[in-house]
Amino acid sequence: MASAPKRVFNFSAGPAVLPVEVLEEAQRDLVSYPGAGMSVLEMSHRSAVFESIVRRAEADIRALAQVPEHYRILFLQGGASLQFAMVPMNLLPPAATADYLVTGAWGQKAVAEARKLGTVAIAASTEQDNFTRLPTPDEVHRTPGAAYLHFTSNETIHGVQFPEEPAADGVPLVCDASSDLFSRPIAIDRYGLVYAGAQKNLGPAGVTLVIVREDLLERAPASLPTILRYATHAKERSLYNTPPAFAVYILGLVMAWLKRQGGLAAMAERNARKAALLYAEIDRTGFYRGHARPECRSRMNVTFRLPTEALEARFVEEAAAAGLDGLKGHRSVGGLRASIYNAFPEAGVQALVDFMREFERTHG
Ligand code: PMP
Repeated sequence: MASAPKRVFNFSAGPAVLPVEVLEEAQRDLVSYPGAGMSVLEMSHRSAVFESIVRRAEADIRALAQVPEHYRILFLQGGASLQFAMVPMNLLPPAATADYLVTGAWGQKAVAEARKLGTVAIAASTEQDNFTRLPTPDEVHRTPGAAYLHFTSNETIHGVQFPEEPAADGVPLVCDASSDLFSRPIAIDRYGLVYAGAQKNLGPAGVTLVIVREDLLERAPASLPTILRYATHAKERSLYNTPPAFAVYILGLVMAWLKRQGGLAAMAERNARKAALLYAEIDRTGFYRGHARPECRSRMNVTFRLPTEALEARFVEEAAAAGLDGLKGHRSVGGLRASIYNAFPEAGVQALVDFMREFERTHG
């Protein structure tokens, strides 16, 4: 038998590491999907086999996140970036205002798109502090009767994560959960709409998951094009037009994998352990410095600096040579970023901690 192909520890922020089991299953069934005699890549999206793939993915999501009956699960395209526009197109009537909490670069992008489409109020922003923290409750200024309150549960670039969702006070809560959805349990019934590009915790790039409360489907103006309406995709159960079929299939395999891992509570425990190990090393001596304030730290994207940019560049280079790939921070923040999503193995976090310790010993 051929030996297993060599794999690095992939700390990429997204597209990101997938479970090896999922890759192997896809590889096994790539040429001929069981019972179909053809690849999922070649299959009609109107076939019974593909329909069953979509419905199983949907059912697994419903079970994993305990999605209530009156919420719809949609597989869309256009990434989370299209949701920056689709959310206001569908949910922000002309006379209303949408409130946004801005805790990083992705929240800023969401605001920029919404502003093209309607009236936006920044309920709070931590930009002045270089997005190192979340707003305190008394910094949040809400618009009475707002159409919705948007926030980014985990800011992938800055590494700042809400420990729990902000209070909604009766206004539909809309969340960009692109980089932490299903990394922990989520109380869907507290949300109006949650969206996430799949390429971090859920699967490959190309499919975007939207979970939306049914009553919000009716808000869109009649003039909105068919494909941009949530109601269209809900009615056609994500098969209005040709979906990103292979991406949906792999997402389904990841959902089944999540169930086998023990579900979202088990994932949360494992993710907390991984993050704690890494932050403990960052805090150990002062050689490394975390970007986010300790109480706002992300368990998904761990952002940190070294004493100089030269040392940071050296760290990235030597780490890559040691099989620790993708640690360079986003250019807007600099430094290092270790993305440790669901599928990222604990052994990889330990390997990074060992590397950090050795790097500090030799360069500190
Ligand atoms: N929101 C967040 C929090 C993200 O991390 C990203 C991608 N890194 C996006 C939105 C944009 O997603 P996409 O590239 O799928 O449009």
